[in-house]
Amino acid sequence: MSASAQSNLASVPTVPHWIGGKAVATQGRSGDVYNPSTGLVTARVPFASAEELDQCVQVARAAFPGWANTPPLRRARVLFKFRQLLEAASDELAHAISAEHGKTVSDARGEVVRGLEVVEFACGIPDLIKGEYNENVGTGVDAYSIRQPLGVVAGITPFNFPAMVPLWMFPVALACGNSFILKPSERDPSASIILARLLAEAGLPAGVFNVLQGDRTAVDGLLQHPDVAAISFVGSTPVARHVHQQGTLQGKRVQALGGAKNHMVIMPDADIDDAVEALLGAAYGSAGERCMAISVAVAVGDECADRLIEKLSPRVRALKVGLPTDNATEMGPLITGEHRNKVADYISTGIGEGAKLLIDGRPGFLDKPGFFLGGSLFDGVQPQMRIYKEEIFGPVLGILRVPDLDAAIKLINAHPYANGTAIFTRNGAAARAFTSAIEVGMVGVNVPLPVPVAFHSFGGWRSSLFGDHHIYGREGVRFYTRLKAITQRWPRELESRAEFSMPTMK
Ligand code: NAD
Repeated sequence: MSASAQSNLASVPTVPHWIGGKAVATQGRSGDVYNPSTGLVTARVPFASAEELDQCVQVARAAFPGWANTPPLRRARVLFKFRQLLEAASDELAHAISAEHGKTVSDARGEVVRGLEVVEFACGIPDLIKGEYNENVGTGVDAYSIRQPLGVVAGITPFNFPAMVPLWMFPVALACGNSFILKPSERDPSASIILARLLAEAGLPAGVFNVLQGDRTAVDGLLQHPDVAAISFVGSTPVARHVHQQGTLQGKRVQALGGAKNHMVIMPDADIDDAVEALLGAAYGSAGERCMAISVAVAVGDECADRLIEKLSPRVRALKVGLPTDNATEMGPLITGEHRNKVADYISTGIGEGAKLLIDGRPGFLDKPGFFLGGSLFDGVQPQMRIYKEEIFGPVLGILRVPDLDAAIKLINAHPYANGTAIFTRNGAAARAFTSAIEVGMVGVNVPLPVPVAFHSFGGWRSSLFGDHHIYGREGVRFYTRLKAITQRWPRELESRAEFSMPTMK
């Protein structure tokens, strides 16, 4: 660390936890938060100890019964108010996200809007949580089922969407009547505190929503804690697998969303200009640090691949890399120097594996302050290469050529990651064959980033999601509630007799 970075450390603020309705400062282990544009430390983030974690769980546990018994209509009113405050604070949030993450402010505003849509969905909880009723399932016997909250539920989130991914979780969890502990990414923790403050302003009772800052120790503590009923996780695949295995071993309900390698198929009949625009945004937007980013372009036929490259290459060379606060910037820095160097190493790996590097995003960036990297483009990517098999999570797009649609489908279905995919074509039959046969959780037709809207649910297949439920939408309501089936009889006169054979309805 340079001397200037050292001196800057003494004066930086510490991001608090948020427990029991207020910001809480603690002493103990902590980590650095960077401004990725300058490479300087701008804040410290505390790493919760086991005792702090337990205190936080007890606070959330104590708040649960009161909130669970608050009528859904009243819970929804808090969320209506929160929605209004969130919209008013979207600029403050977007700047806080951009400063710690490095994505452009306009991109950060977009993430807040996508999160806000989940709040709007959750405002419909009185209807969403309705049960089912059957009168007279037997003579004088009625049956009904209701959905009840689970208790204390936790959300563990990644760095790349510090507002949107928490907002995929807690509006639905809270609407269902649970209390919530958010363990945000330690790389960009400030957005979580703004969200907590807005919830308090909206009238959410203290202790119902808490933020516990921390690293893997906090995650493992939440996985082991007997009073945490369920865990929603979003992050990389190895950690998602660990969270699912350990959480379910402890008898918790777990949904763990992992990494991705998203393919976009370009058919020979596609509008190439349209496909190029789509690829630029989907591969290089947010410097490729999106779980739905397109990282493989699958061109059907050499002619299609050559046309694509001809139009795409000048656009990738011209990508405007710069400060995220500058309106003209298309790509800001990556999250950390370590991650930027890892992405740069993948470019060397790709060359070593025999892929053809058409555009090298490294020159001019690696020796400058900040964690910047230009856009890179590979042709001749092959399925056995590491740059194809592994998630790079940076501004690197690989082109892979296949002879026909069937080969594209086989290729995609064989990849361990199966988060999102897209096809660009003018042929409805080809699109239909693709959407039907493809084994991927989210599919776009002439839509490069098919992130489902709030009232559909989000989730991948295979190594992109562990667990049974996708996130938000109706799947979210199911995840954050458990079903209770009630069979009731109100006899006019009490004439019950013990029955020793399996009860059947009479
Ligand atoms: P990450 O897995 O490193 O971290 C995610 C969370 O897990 C953080 O809160 C972190 O503190 C915690 N964590 C990290 N290492 C841990 C460990 N060894 N044990 C326990 N907890 C640990 O992910 P990231 O780098 O913050 O985010 C990028 C990854 O997230 C990418 O792989 C991306 O594809 C994925 N992602 C997936 C989705 C999706 O919806 N499928 C969405 C966003 C991001």
